[in-house]
Amino acid sequence: MSRNISIIGSGHVGLVVAACLARQGNQVTVVDTDEEKVRRVNARVCPIYEPGLQEILSQVNIQATSDYSLISNSEIVFTCVPTPSNTDGSISLGYIKDAIEQVSLTLRDKSDYYVVVVKSTVAPGTTEEVVIPILESSGKKAGIDFGVCMTPEFLREGKGVFDFMNPSRIVIGEHDRRSGDILCSLYRDFTAPVLRVNLKTAEMIKYASNAFLATKVSFINEIGNICKRLGIDTYEVVKGMAYDERIGNKFLNAGIGFGGSCLRKDLAALIAKARQIDYEPSILREVFNLNERQAVKMIDLLKRHISVKDSTVGLLGLSFKPEADNVNGSLAVTVVNALLKEGARLKAYDPQAMANLDGLFPRVECVAEEEVLGCDAILILTEWEEFEHLDYRGKIVIDGRRILKAKEAEIYEGVCW
Ligand code: NAD
Repeated sequence: MSRNISIIGSGHVGLVVAACLARQGNQVTVVDTDEEKVRRVNARVCPIYEPGLQEILSQVNIQATSDYSLISNSEIVFTCVPTPSNTDGSISLGYIKDAIEQVSLTLRDKSDYYVVVVKSTVAPGTTEEVVIPILESSGKKAGIDFGVCMTPEFLREGKGVFDFMNPSRIVIGEHDRRSGDILCSLYRDFTAPVLRVNLKTAEMIKYASNAFLATKVSFINEIGNICKRLGIDTYEVVKGMAYDERIGNKFLNAGIGFGGSCLRKDLAALIAKARQIDYEPSILREVFNLNERQAVKMIDLLKRHISVKDSTVGLLGLSFKPEADNVNGSLAVTVVNALLKEGARLKAYDPQAMANLDGLFPRVECVAEEEVLGCDAILILTEWEEFEHLDYRGKIVIDGRRILKAKEAEIYEGVCW
């Protein structure tokens, strides 16, 4: 059955969800406050780099708009707006409050039942304590006039389409049974296990999942830091660990740590939430702190081989991970700032991010990769596959991401192996 769906926010999550649901035959409207994004989606030009998304966008019929009144026929409204960090790490609810207020105004005069679904990552309790009161300020009642669900998104940038279409699980946090039934019916063609829980459990599942992934990264980086001092190859150690099924080999790539707009932000938000309720989360705090220290270890290693001041350092990779053009929260920012403080001149190459630097790298000259290879030393910050095909012979390389080919360099240092 085709449904009339609206998606508020057409970013990495919203646009993938919109395109995939439209491909399944639903009528989809996306609302975004960014007029340029709206224009591009209507022109079927994908505004973000996400493999496979452009192809789907060219095939489906999605309407993009900045006019909320166009969602008034919707049966299901997803909110996929950003939830960035406040300075204390807690999440800022500004975007979600704005979006829900608009949804509430638009749907005030609607007589048929609809379900509002929070898909943005929000701290446990947010849907109940913030979203529902705003919706009910319209005079309508949750569970009677409209439904409410919270369904966290687990997709990875760069694999968004695949992940949305092939989810490991679908978590449906429901205010009431009817809301959950309607949302479940939208996922009827998916084969993944569906877990139906209450709203705050759904919110917590997302945070706990990301906190666990972050813990794996900091754990293996800690092991790696010890291995490096002992002259042991951490990656061989992981191979040996991975035969134990309870451990496995996923998300145990030692390196400079986790960047991007999700793991770090969500971990910080969970820490802040715990502190708000008077609990000091000591493991999570150290996972976060170790990650903050890990990337700058590259500078100490570099100093063993060159005098950084006035040297030209080449950076391979700026995006927070391969197959993504996003530099928000990228550890490259941390490394760049540390190098600039040391007086280095910087040249950088990234296959996708160079058009998208958002002013984050003001004193970095973007160049072709051959020019990066000509610098006094090279730092590898993102594991783009093409970096496995460069000629590193005769170079000084500090590798933050385990590019095997770089081992042929004259001087090669892995950050924690
Ligand atoms: P994004 O920044 O890529 O996109 C958000 C979009 O919302 C932007 O296009 C912005 O213009 C739009 N927007 C902001 N306020 C709006 C409003 N009031 N009305 C309409 N549109 C508005 O963000 P994203 O990466 O898609 O993340 C969205 C949420 O999903 C966040 O809570 C994030 O933590 C979560 N999440 C992200 C990922 C990911 O990989 N990016 C994965 C899982 C969950």
